[in-house]
Amino acid sequence: MTTSLSPLPQSRHLATALPGPKSALLHSQRVEQVTSGFGITLPVFIDRADRGILQDVDGNRLVDFASGIAVTSVGAANPQVRARVAEQLERFTHTCFMVTEYESFTEVAAWLNKHTPGDFEKRTALFSTGSEAVENAVKIARAATGRQKVLVFDDAYHGRTMLTMAMTAKENPYKKNFGPFPTDVYRAPMAAPLRWSTGAHNATAEALAGVEQTLAEHDAENFAAMVIEPIQGEGGFIVPSSGFLTGLRQIATRHGIVFVIDEIQAGMGRTGALFASEHEGVVGDLILTAKALAGGLPLSAVTGRAELMNAVHTGGLGGTYAGNPLACAAALGVFEAFADGTLLANARAIEATARAALEPLLTGTAIVAEVRGRGAMLAVEFADQDTLEPLPDLAKAIAQRCHEQGVLVLVCGTYGNVIRLLPPLVIGEELLADGLQVLAESILAADREPVAAVVV
Ligand SMILES: *Cc1c(COP(=O)(O)O)cnc(C)c1O
Repeated sequence: MTTSLSPLPQSRHLATALPGPKSALLHSQRVEQVTSGFGITLPVFIDRADRGILQDVDGNRLVDFASGIAVTSVGAANPQVRARVAEQLERFTHTCFMVTEYESFTEVAAWLNKHTPGDFEKRTALFSTGSEAVENAVKIARAATGRQKVLVFDDAYHGRTMLTMAMTAKENPYKKNFGPFPTDVYRAPMAAPLRWSTGAHNATAEALAGVEQTLAEHDAENFAAMVIEPIQGEGGFIVPSSGFLTGLRQIATRHGIVFVIDEIQAGMGRTGALFASEHEGVVGDLILTAKALAGGLPLSAVTGRAELMNAVHTGGLGGTYAGNPLACAAALGVFEAFADGTLLANARAIEATARAALEPLLTGTAIVAEVRGRGAMLAVEFADQDTLEPLPDLAKAIAQRCHEQGVLVLVCGTYGNVIRLLPPLVIGEELLADGLQVLAESILAADREPVAAVVV
């Protein structure tokens, strides 16, 4: 069973100014009905999406450099995902895996057990959201170790639930007004090369020393888990300096701490390897996936050492929708899409094209401090090149220039001064080049007219 929608043209097209009149009307209705607690990057309403294009209700075709925040890596209308979900939808939508079973849950677990790094026996638990995966990893680590404390890092993002807010670093907008938070969460330095005070070459050694110090101050033997993103997402697409992740792995092993790698944003092919931790050859005891795992349906997973995953009492893990059958079917479609290696190669090709377009701006402007990332997880940080004073207003103005021209980019970073690129891995060459050109020109324009840019 397939639908008869024709493929969307893979070209940018502005039928109206953005937002168009239909989007503007729908947005005004939204404001009347929906909490104002949700922010909005670009107030346009989407009618359809396909590969690199989001088509809105006014007939505008936008270049998608967001993938719904790293979710629709295989495309938002991927044929394998659609076929699997449609087939499942015909049979049943839900049983609750804790009540009666279905095979796709096991199949998703088997794929993750096989493909995640680590040559040891594994088990997997499925949930719905990334935050739930993080929370459950902490539950599992506590149950397995009999310890309580959790170590996280500067600039970390792990979610918006109570425990994961405590684990997230950035105050505004994620934590402001929402405390008190669960205790027993401690923060250690992250080896972020650009802003390391004594220079990038010292970042790994000094950050690892800082981690040891934090652990020592709070009794290393009472830490259950150390949780780290292999490339930080919301924190600004910070790639830890080389040797940091392997150093953490050694520290965790030495102190009997469960090493949890949060691959929720960086994993599932985004960086040109199935898992970003593979680039550093580092193996977690538990690895967390979500976002791109099921191509847009809500699914998350904790995968890891069988003896940890099975240390929880039976009945201790679960959730009504955990590993929902439609989401499991979608994940099986995603795995199929990744099977021949093309999408991983695409991610690497996207990096080459984007670096060629953006790296000249390091010397060609006074505002680009760094172009960084891996594969199709890339970012441009805006800061004064001499002082590294962050330029968040400029980043926002550049993002707005892109949006006005029909290129959807997202801003992130602890200082809000980073534009990140997360195109679907199925974006075509021409569309990618077009979107990058709009971004590069917007950066050059902002560099020439910084005052006008800040006013926007
Ligand atoms: C998005 C994200 C989460 C939280 O996932 P939700 O599905 O939004 O709960 C956790 N960790 C990282 C690294 C993320 O990017």
